[in-house]
Amino acid sequence: MDQKISALIDSYRDELVATLVRWISIPSLKDTPAPGAPFGGEVRRMLDMAMADASAMGFAVRDYEGYACDITLGDAPEAVAVLGHLDIVPAGDGWQTPPFTAVIEDGKVIGRGSIDDKGPSLAALYAMRAIKEAGVPLKKSIRMILGCDEESGWEDMEYYAAHADMPEAGFSPDASFPIINTEKAMLHAYISAPLATTGLKVKQLWTGERLNVIPGECKALLEGGAELAEKVAAYAAKVSLPYTSEITAEGVWVTAEGIPGHSAYPEGRRNAIGMMLLLLKELGVEGPLLTLANVYGMEHDGASLGCACRDDVSGPLTCNMGILHLENGAITATLDMRVPVTADLDQLEKNARAALEGFAFTTVEKKEPHHVPAEGELVSQLLAAYHEESGLDAYPTSTGGGTYAKVLKQGVAFGAAFPADEDLAHQAGEYARIDGLMMAAKIYANALLRLCAE
Ligand SMILES: [Zn+2]
Repeated sequence: MDQKISALIDSYRDELVATLVRWISIPSLKDTPAPGAPFGGEVRRMLDMAMADASAMGFAVRDYEGYACDITLGDAPEAVAVLGHLDIVPAGDGWQTPPFTAVIEDGKVIGRGSIDDKGPSLAALYAMRAIKEAGVPLKKSIRMILGCDEESGWEDMEYYAAHADMPEAGFSPDASFPIINTEKAMLHAYISAPLATTGLKVKQLWTGERLNVIPGECKALLEGGAELAEKVAAYAAKVSLPYTSEITAEGVWVTAEGIPGHSAYPEGRRNAIGMMLLLLKELGVEGPLLTLANVYGMEHDGASLGCACRDDVSGPLTCNMGILHLENGAITATLDMRVPVTADLDQLEKNARAALEGFAFTTVEKKEPHHVPAEGELVSQLLAAYHEESGLDAYPTSTGGGTYAKVLKQGVAFGAAFPADEDLAHQAGEYARIDGLMMAAKIYANALLRLCAE
C-alpha cells in the first residue's frame, strides 16, 4: 500500500487508543427507549460521541434518529459499506479490571466493547481518515454505518435500510480475519412429548435457558437409592466421563458435567444434556427420553436425526440441544441446527420430524444461508489486502453464527480479530491488541483503496 497512507495510520496510534478508551467508558447497553434514543440513553450518548469524533475528522455524518449513523467519504453515488456497531453486551462477572474504565496493559486495551465492536470500528474509521488526509480521489464513496442494536434485534439495520439506500457491497469489521464469506442456514425447533409411565422414573430435570448455548451442567432427580448410585458410578467409569450422584430422601440427584460453549461451535465441547440422555438410557429410561438418547445422544452432527451433511464452503452441519425441561409430566427440548449452504433445509426438517416420531415438533426460526463467492471481486480484493499487509495466509472461511454482513447483498465479515488471537468477545476480560488494531486499520485502508480508489 501507499507508504504515505501507512505512515498516516501509524501517526494516529496514540489518538486511536485514547479514543477507544473514551468509547469504552460509555456502557452502551440496550435500555428503555426514549425520544431519539430507541435503545436507551447510554447508547444515544455513545452514538453522539462517535458522530462528534467523525465530524471532527471532517467527515459528513448523519444521524438516523438514534438507530444508527453513517459517516461518508467521497461523493460518488455508488458506495462501499463498512458496518460496525456501538452497542455492547452486559459486562457480566469475572472481570479483573473495571469493564468500563479501560486498562492498557501489555499492549492491550482491556474493557467491554474493546474488540466487539468499538476497537474494530475505530480501526476502520482511522483507515478512512488516512485515505481522506492523503487526498486519494475515489470512484466509489466509502460509507461507514455504525449501528446501535447489533447485540439484540438488529432493529438498527432495519431502520437504516428503510430510510437510506443500503449499499450493495461491503464488509463488517465485527468478526475475524482472514474473511467470513459463508454463513450457514439455521433451523430452530422446540420438541415435546409426554414422559413414559414405564421404565426408570425421572422426577426432576431442568437444564438450559437458551437454544444457542451448549449446556455445561445437567442435573436430574431419579427414583432410586444406593443401587442406582452404584450404576451411575459404574457407567461413569466405563465411559470415562464426569457423572456424580448424591442419595437424598427424594431419590438420587445425578449430575453430568459437560464443557459449555456456543452451539455453532461444538468442536471440543461436550453437551451435558447429551451426557445425561445416554446415562438415562443406560439406567433403563423409556419413552421420549430414550428416543432422544437414540437420535441425539452426544452427536453434534445430526447423524441419527438423519440430518448429517456437509459441503466444501460451509463445513459440516452442527446440531445442539440447549434446553431439556421436564414439566407437568412432559419433556420439552430444543434443537439448534446450523446448516451448510447447499443443503435442502426443508428436507432436513422433514428428516428430523420423522426421526422424532411421537414428538410435537415446532419450528420457531428458519434462516436462509448467506454466501458471497470467493472468486468474486469483493472477496478476492479483501483477501489480497489482508495478505499484503499482514503477510498471513489468506483464505475464505464459514461460520455457523450470524454477522451484520448479511444485511448487504454482497457482504462479508472481515476482521478485526486475527487467527492467532484469543477470542474473548462477550466474555470477562475482553481486550483488543493495539498492534492488532493498527494492522487492521492498514488492512482496511488497503482494502478500501482497492475497491474505491480511482
Ligand atoms: Zn459484534
